[in-house]
Amino acid sequence: MGNHFQVQDRFAAGAHYLNGRLRPGRSGRSHAVVDPATGKRVLEYELAGTEDVDAAVAAAARAFPGWAGATPGERSDAMHRFAAVLAGQADDFVYAESLQCGKPVKLSAEFDVPGSFDNVSFFAGAARHLEGRSAGEYSGDHTSYVRREPIGVVGSVAPWNYPLQMAAWKVLPAIAAGNTIVLKPSELTPLTSLMFAQAAQEAGIPDGVVNIVTGAGADAGEHLVGHPDVAMTSFTGSTAVGRRVAETAGRTLKRVHLELGGKAPFLVFDDADLEAAVHGAVAGALINTGQDCTAATRAYVQRPLYDAFVAGIADLMATVRLGDPFDPATDLGPLISHRQRDRVAGFVERARSHATVVTGGEAPGGALSDGAYYRPTLVTGAAQDSEIVQSEIFGPVLVVLPFDRDDEGLALANDTPYGLAASAWSRDVYRTGRATRELRAGCVWVNDHIPILSEMPHGGYKSSGSGKDMSAYSFEEYTQIKHVMSDNTAVARKDWHRTVFGAR
Ligand code: NAD
Repeated sequence: MGNHFQVQDRFAAGAHYLNGRLRPGRSGRSHAVVDPATGKRVLEYELAGTEDVDAAVAAAARAFPGWAGATPGERSDAMHRFAAVLAGQADDFVYAESLQCGKPVKLSAEFDVPGSFDNVSFFAGAARHLEGRSAGEYSGDHTSYVRREPIGVVGSVAPWNYPLQMAAWKVLPAIAAGNTIVLKPSELTPLTSLMFAQAAQEAGIPDGVVNIVTGAGADAGEHLVGHPDVAMTSFTGSTAVGRRVAETAGRTLKRVHLELGGKAPFLVFDDADLEAAVHGAVAGALINTGQDCTAATRAYVQRPLYDAFVAGIADLMATVRLGDPFDPATDLGPLISHRQRDRVAGFVERARSHATVVTGGEAPGGALSDGAYYRPTLVTGAAQDSEIVQSEIFGPVLVVLPFDRDDEGLALANDTPYGLAASAWSRDVYRTGRATRELRAGCVWVNDHIPILSEMPHGGYKSSGSGKDMSAYSFEEYTQIKHVMSDNTAVARKDWHRTVFGAR
């Protein structure tokens, strides 16, 4: 792979991007981006504080009238140029994403980076497709029509699991619709968000349209979400922080878009293709080391297939290669941090009292012992109401449980507070048709689990949030609708004035 730039040199000017250039933070607190595969620091920087957030919001507010006033065609052209600039930097993005997250390069190169770049092309096209219902003379005396307008400054907050994709999902619909944005990435993983903003500027997107503040959640994040000059908040992260964000944003009554946690069920009926289901479950559980909000976390398997499914998962998990993220042969990288690894291990250790850890359940030693690695883990025999079945673990852990009747499987699949994604596995279209209707989730796959598309919406039901990322649905959420009603009669004394003046 191409250019391994020096991260500390590239971001020597700071880990914030404001008004078209990198700047240092002013919180007085330093932080480090750490390579989770080795535990080594790759960038030391000063976190953004509240005054940096204020400066970024002010820059975005200044840029708003010009960008909102550009024609859709001008915004679209700029975003097509943005896509072209990014295409020339793909290797750098793969490198930085794998370095800061510990992602295997094949995942960054085949999923994160091309998926994010494809989003840029999609929203460049979408920028020219603001659509509404037709105008008309609904009262007889007026012409009514609808304008879709940008909202203003968007303040977005993103997590660390797919930093580039999350930056893309937040920035692109916002700017395609004519808004300007301040994005706060996770302080663990700011590199590719900063590079994304730099590429936007290289493409000619005006200064101040895309700004990045890399601060901690409790001060910079909270300040951004509560900022009176921020008109909309778009948040992706855990359900617990999402609740807090909704409360903070509620104080200024801004529009709120929440993409929260998940605990996706993987429902296998007894006529499913067993080989496909086993491969789908292992891939769906382990992608991004299980740090995926839509990961397959709970497989419910109808009794006739249960034993063979469990054996197949254990065998396949044993073939997964943990290793250096930059080795193209590596299947599974580390978790984002040692802290996250310990959190995941805690769930598995607590489950041992009542469930069976069939495989995994430990960190590897040897050459990988400095990294935040954890072996692929299969748990069976857990109670439906236990923590390991109900809570989001965010690690390479799959729980498998049996069921007998179709009704029962569907009820178990729906029985958590989450509703982000689900999958149903069967060769019978009536069974899968019923599952797609009855599974309470924002995305239901049939005989697959994980793929996403720029054209299709991503977003949750229940405690997994509200609002959609990607797709035309997301684009529309970054606009507000204005009804314009224009008198066609030129009559001074309108009929309806009688309700105020009587016959006078
Ligand atoms: P997190 O909720 O801990 O943090 C997310 C972001 O919020 C970070 O940038 C953090 O600094 C910030 N934050 C923390 N406290 C804040 C506050 N009080 N006000 C404003 N911002 C604050 O989540 P995480 O650990 O970074 O990411 C993992 C979570 O993200 C998982 O729950 C996962 O399911 C979820 N996620 C959801 C989706 C989705 O599309 N639904 C996608 C990716 C990740």
